[in-house]
Formats: sequence, structure tokens, C-alpha cells
Amino acid sequence: MSAVDGLKDVRSRVDSAAREAGRQSQDVELIAVSKTFDADAIRPVLDAGQRVFGENRVQEAQGKWPGLKADYADVELHLIGPLQSNKTKEAVALFDVIQTVDREKIARAIAKEIEKQGKPMRLYVEVNTGMEPQKAGIAPDDCAAFIKLCRDELGLTVEGLMCIPPFDENPGPHFALLRKLAGENDVEKLSMGMSGDFETAIGFGATSVRVGTAIFGGR
Ligand SMILES: *Cc1c(COP(=O)(O)O)cnc(C)c1O
Repeated sequence: MSAVDGLKDVRSRVDSAAREAGRQSQDVELIAVSKTFDADAIRPVLDAGQRVFGENRVQEAQGKWPGLKADYADVELHLIGPLQSNKTKEAVALFDVIQTVDREKIARAIAKEIEKQGKPMRLYVEVNTGMEPQKAGIAPDDCAAFIKLCRDELGLTVEGLMCIPPFDENPGPHFALLRKLAGENDVEKLSMGMSGDFETAIGFGATSVRVGTAIFGGR
């Protein structure tokens, strides 16, 4: 299947899942995850009308997106992979949304760059819902204090929460936990669901789903 066919298929599945959940399909944003695919592979998807994309490495994104953004001005780019503090400047300059705010050090570095560059940034806090030691993200119990620090001390706008459930578990309880944390902390958006589970995530209230393989094919 071509990426354009993959896109059409995923869009129609998003629509059906939203309808089934009693939601409006325009309330679920599709983020096309283009990591590992080059500009030539991404262009047809842009030409098919997709404008919101996710990348998980700053350096890789820097190699392809400045050119694509020049040709498609209304692109919205989300960073969905871990951010190292020495890449904060580049990340704030290139991305529109950083979904992986996962520790105090990086929150402080982002706040500093936002001020320096005078560029507003939309931010999501990544939550390690499965408490996996190797995985990034704030522990669910520390979520409230961290969001408060971001907002009150650093003046950041926390637009949403993001999670990547453990690979080998039923994702439903993780999506439910993320939604509960968002409600408790007055956070509006929920980024959850990937190729294998985005329909489930929509049922649990996802406002954006991050889909790579089901659009672009295997990596
Ligand atoms: C790669 C990636 C995705 C997309 O995964 P697929 O299974 O290919 O849809 C979503 N979210 C994050 C954080 C990723 O790194």
C-alpha cells in the first residue's frame, strides 16, 4: 500500500472509531509519524492534504523539515521522541509542539529557549503510565507537582499529556489513567494511540493519535 493509500485508510479508521465512540472526527487529530522516511516519501502525503507530522529525533527532522516547511507553509511539526537538553535550541526553533517534556531539567531549558527565541511553544508532558524503568516520562504520582512547576514557576503552557503504554500490555488502562490525570490537572489534550491501538485510544478520549507504520509502512 502506498503512503497516500495508508493515509486514506487511517483517516477513515479514525472517523469510524470517533463515530463509534460518539465523538466528532474533527476532535481527533491525526499526527502522521514520518520518522526514518525522507522528504521524497513525505511529499505525497503532504500533497494528499496531511499537515500534522511527528518526528522523534531533532537531528533527523532538521535534515528534511526546513525544506518541506518552506514548500508547505502550514505544516505543524510535533517532537514525539526524547529531547536532550543540548538540542533544546534546535527543537524550539524547528518544532511547533514538543510532546516529550519529561523532567525538570528539560522543562527549564525549554522555558529559557522560548524566552530567548520569543517563540510560543505548545507543550505536552509525557507520562510513564506503566512506570517502566527504561522509559521516559513523569511517574503518574509526580504528574501534578510537575505540571504545577511547569505552569507556576516556569510560565509554560501545558496543553496536553502524552503516553506510550508498555508494549506487551493491554493499552486501555494506560489510556484511562492518562485521561484521569488530565482531568485532575486541568489539561485539555491527550496524545495517545499508535498504529496498533489508535482506535482503542480514540475510545478512551485521545485528541491526537500518532500513526507511523499504518501510513508509511514498516520501518
Ligand atoms: C514511532 C512512534 C509512533 C508511531 O508508531 P507506529 O507504531 O509506527 O504507528 C508513535 N509515537 C511515538 C512516540 C513514536 O516514537
